[in-house]
Parts: sequence; structure tokens; C-alpha cells
Amino acid sequence: MTEPAYNLETGACPDLSGMTIDEMETFFHSMGQEKYRAAQVMRWIHQGLAVSYDPMTNLSKKLREELASTAGIGRPTVIETLESKDGVKKFLFGLVDGSKIESVYIPNEDHDTLCVSTQVGCAMGCKICRTAEMGFVRNLTSGEIVGQLLELRRQVPGSSITNVVFMGMGEPLANFDNTVRAINIMTNPNGPQISWRRLTVSTSGLAPRIIEFGKTVRIKLAISLNAVTDETRSLIMPINTKYPLGELIEALRHYPLPKRDRITIEYVLIKGFNDSDADARRLVKLLNPIRAKVNLIPFNDELSTEFKTPEPERVAAFQDILMSKSLIAIIRKSRGRDILAACGQLASENRRAC
Ligand code: SAH
Ligand code: SF4
Repeated sequence: MTEPAYNLETGACPDLSGMTIDEMETFFHSMGQEKYRAAQVMRWIHQGLAVSYDPMTNLSKKLREELASTAGIGRPTVIETLESKDGVKKFLFGLVDGSKIESVYIPNEDHDTLCVSTQVGCAMGCKICRTAEMGFVRNLTSGEIVGQLLELRRQVPGSSITNVVFMGMGEPLANFDNTVRAINIMTNPNGPQISWRRLTVSTSGLAPRIIEFGKTVRIKLAISLNAVTDETRSLIMPINTKYPLGELIEALRHYPLPKRDRITIEYVLIKGFNDSDADARRLVKLLNPIRAKVNLIPFNDELSTEFKTPEPERVAAFQDILMSKSLIAIIRKSRGRDILAACGQLASENRRAC
């Protein structure tokens, strides 16, 4: 059976791997098929990791042929794999239009985590992040977001990816609909079965969309805060000029946080820029109105001439101040730095045209 090419521009050939269960049911209904076919095919794609209709033997041959001429099962293709000495693997994926994205596989003792991209490049322009240098190329489709997980599960047999973090290339909330769709698929019982408790979406702080997002899906939310005054935050994160700290904290205060849950605040520590005792005290005060925990990420400075990572003693002192005020603070050891797979180091060779 030959697969029809998935046409990203016209959508002429729909991609079944990017459809939610509701969309899949509508699709099968339009083919004159029973509703239960949707769940069946979804399980083949997301649990059986099927890339063609051939193995779907609980579907008649006629239906499989009809499907093959109507819809594709999109998957990114692996172009390159790099393995870090600490076990982290970085995958460079090629997409149907020739764009390239990166995903990072992080094995742990009791579970594995996958860091997925949501856009080719990013429009947010954060000064600390390598993805920003690519500029914005395009949004990923929901199939391309979920496809990173499906292909990774195929590429790393025996892996047990139970955790997915939307912390790769791009700003998830700037690709709102496809991010929501991908979350719905990932958490569906017929999908790849990722529990919402193990699914984290990180945003640079698109304040108005944060509340809308919380009302639309259930996930763990992380915010890239990285500074405690508007002056310093705007210097490294231009989004802050549009949605300053006051507005961001207000949005977080209204975020419909599940019971006993906390918002993760990511704070990249940069030497002499945002790592003083006074900054730590300001951070405590700033986070006072919300239920939060802090991830301290020492700046990955391999590619930066402008910023440097603080000494470990400074990082520890910063953490101590937060903890002394009963704020949970964890120092995140960056993994995969030798292959440029750590936070803020993802970029493919795509560049915007102008
Ligand atoms: N766009 C989203 C998702 C990407 S997450 C967001 O910004 O939240 C990427 C994370 O890496 C962010 O928390 C960002 O603050 C962090 N980061 C960017 N550059 C970094 C660097 N050089 N060192 C350490 N962390 C970095
Ligand atoms: Fe985009 Fe996030 Fe990088 Fe900022 S930190 S440029 S929002 S990917």
C-alpha cells in the first residue's frame, strides 16, 4: 500500500496522527464509518506505533485501502542523533516541508522524559536562548508535536517515556490550538497515554493566554521568569515589555491550578545579572501571591559571549534564601550540555528568510 503525501499547505490529505478523538470520529463519520473506528485507528497509531495501514488487521482490507488514499499518518524523520556522555540523546527531525526541529530524550532511573518542540524557531527573541537566533519559521502541526513522541518511542526501544515537557524549540502558547490538540491526544486513553500530571508546558509568559490555557486543558504549568524586575526581565525577554511582571503574576494568580498543585517557576541564574541575595529576596516577595515552586537553572553559557554562569556557591546561596522563606527551590542540573541539548541550546539550521 502506498501512502499519500501529506500536504501541509492545503491539508488535502489529513494527518491522522494529529487528530483528537473527536476529530477522528468526525473524520470516520464523513467516510460513512462507525464511530468506534476512530478509537481503533487511534490505538494503532499511538500505541501500536503504526506508520501505515497494513498492520491494522482489525480493519477490512477495503477500509485500509480507502484510508490509504484519503489520509496520511504523519511522522517526522530522524536526520541525526547525538548522544551525550550523561545518556541524554538529541534528535534532529526533518518535517514534510524540509523544516528541521530538535527533541531531547532524557533517561532517568525510574522514568524517561521527552522534551518536545512546538514551533520551528521562535519569535520571542529571548537574549539567553539559542532558538531565538533562528527567528520564527512556522508553527508545528499537532501531528508534528505528537509525532516526536511516537517516533522517539520507536527509535529507542525499551525506553519508558512517561513524562513529556513542552520545553523544546518554540513558544507553546503562541501555537495555542496545536498545543492544546497535542495535549488532548497525548492524554487520551486511546493515545500515547501520558498522564496530565506528567505533562508540563513551559511558557515565556503570554499573560492573557495563560488563563485561557488553564481553562482549556489540564497540565502542569511552568513559567520562564528569569528576572525579578521589569527592567532586567525586559533586557533578556522582550515579551516582558508587552506583558510586564505585574500582569504576568496577576494571570498566574487567576490560573485555575489543580488542588495541591504548584506552578513551576523557571529561573535561569546569570552571573552578576539576576543572582544576588537581593534578587532572591525579591523573588520570594514576587511569588508570594501564588502557589509556586522554583527551578533554579544555572545559565548554560557555552554559546554566549554576553552572559556567564554563576559559581556553584552563589547558586547554593540563592537557593538557601528561597528555602529559608519556605519557598521550594530545586537546583536543576543541566544535562546534555556536551551535545548542546540543554535548556536554551536547541536550534536547527533553519533560518528565517529575512
Ligand atoms: N518557550 C518556552 C519553552 C522553552 S523552555 C519558554 O521559554 O518557556 C526553554 C527554557 O530554557 C526556558 O525556561 C528558558 O528560560 C531556558 N533557557 C533559555 N536559554 C537558556 C540558557 N542559555 N541556559 C539555561 N536555560 C536557558
Ligand atoms: Fe522562545 Fe522560550 Fe527560547 Fe524565549 S526561551 S526564545 S520563548 S524558546
